[in-house]
Amino acid sequence: MKVVKFGGSSLADGETFAQAIKIITADPERRVIVTSAPGKRTPDDIKVTDLLIEYAHRVINKQPYDDVLTQIISRYQAIAKYFNLPAEKLTDLIQRLHDLPAGKYPNNHYLMAAFKAHGERSNAMLMAAVLNHLGYEARFVTPTEAGIRVTGTPNNANVIPETYSLLDHFTAKQSELLVFPGFYGITLAGHIATFSRGGSDITGAILARGLHADLYENFTDVDAIYSANPNVIDDPEPITKMTYREMRELSYAGFSVFHDEALIPAIQGNVPINVKNTQHPEKPGTLIVPDKNFQPRDIVTGIVSGKHFAALYLHKYLLNKQIGFTLRILQILAKHGISYEHMPSGIDDITIILDRDQINDQLIDEVSNEIQETVNPDHLEWIDNYAITMVVGEGMRNRVGVINDILEPLAKNHIAVPMINQGASRISIMIGTFDKDADNAVRAIYHRFFAN
Ligand code: ASP
Repeated sequence: MKVVKFGGSSLADGETFAQAIKIITADPERRVIVTSAPGKRTPDDIKVTDLLIEYAHRVINKQPYDDVLTQIISRYQAIAKYFNLPAEKLTDLIQRLHDLPAGKYPNNHYLMAAFKAHGERSNAMLMAAVLNHLGYEARFVTPTEAGIRVTGTPNNANVIPETYSLLDHFTAKQSELLVFPGFYGITLAGHIATFSRGGSDITGAILARGLHADLYENFTDVDAIYSANPNVIDDPEPITKMTYREMRELSYAGFSVFHDEALIPAIQGNVPINVKNTQHPEKPGTLIVPDKNFQPRDIVTGIVSGKHFAALYLHKYLLNKQIGFTLRILQILAKHGISYEHMPSGIDDITIILDRDQINDQLIDEVSNEIQETVNPDHLEWIDNYAITMVVGEGMRNRVGVINDILEPLAKNHIAVPMINQGASRISIMIGTFDKDADNAVRAIYHRFFAN
């Protein structure tokens, strides 16, 4: 059995819906379908999820919302019209969207999550209705019914293990197509909570693991995951096959085709993932597999730069002899709810690399002051424009001289490298640069490894 997830641009209008249905019905193994909310039809269109966010804001701020609600409903009506679906088949869907402001929510964060989730919920209801209308046996299944249970904050939920025992007890007829909404689960108290943005990928992975799928097909709008960002490298090489670990490291620094949190359930369930293009389903796409028995074809699989980092650099003479120096710094970070990304250290120096999106300027000042007072470093510097370039490849394992092949083109291009981290992971090398150099660093390394 295969779990098939369609992204927002693959379910944005009647035509894309029809193409998705063609894909679903072309293979009898494709029995579990996961929908996103309708996405953009043109580059300047608005995703239904964003319209729902606006709808929620208007309700919270007690502003008129009829225009947004009409816009949202019209997206579903246009798809229904394309298939000549009788109007009454949309009654329930439309009613639910109208009723959202009257719902009972513990606070506005839960309200926001419930509004957002209705993008996928409505699209799954619609997909099941269209499939039925076309003569296929299909059923819309809610996360409540399936048992997708989550904890955490209402707009950044995490699946809990109980989900998998509940999914084990979920039964369905062999003949029916099951349509699940992506992006959300149900909290222990029974409220809707969404995953982070792009989280329908996570639902697909949970179902692939929980329902013991042989393959998780993730249909999106690109032919494959590429070895570098196509906005940085012209026509980069597609990756035909890679391991979960490679994908994890690449998505960490910015490969965004597949949600990085969605890898975990797939890894736990050992389900291979196939990222494919809805418009070109005949193309092989990218297959993401366990590392067992994986034979790398190239040394490097992908190169990516993330520019959303900052670093705190500390120098203290005889730092290596100080007891509890790092501990006290970490306690300060923990107190402020900040997690660190990396912490390369030397004899007298330590650099703490942080996700810039997690911290504001006020917090930087507070944390820096506290660190200065508590551990009294000889030098403390905040580096705001930090980028991390990740060079990733199973083929780099046990290979002599790779670091040289990475650093040489950087030196030739006069790119300063304030940090190199080739520590814990044997399949990646992390290069710290200043963000102005990040794209050039990717180009230089890419051409070294992929030139021919
Ligand atoms: N519709 C949600 C979003 O735009 C989730 C998803 O598309 O995966 O973030």
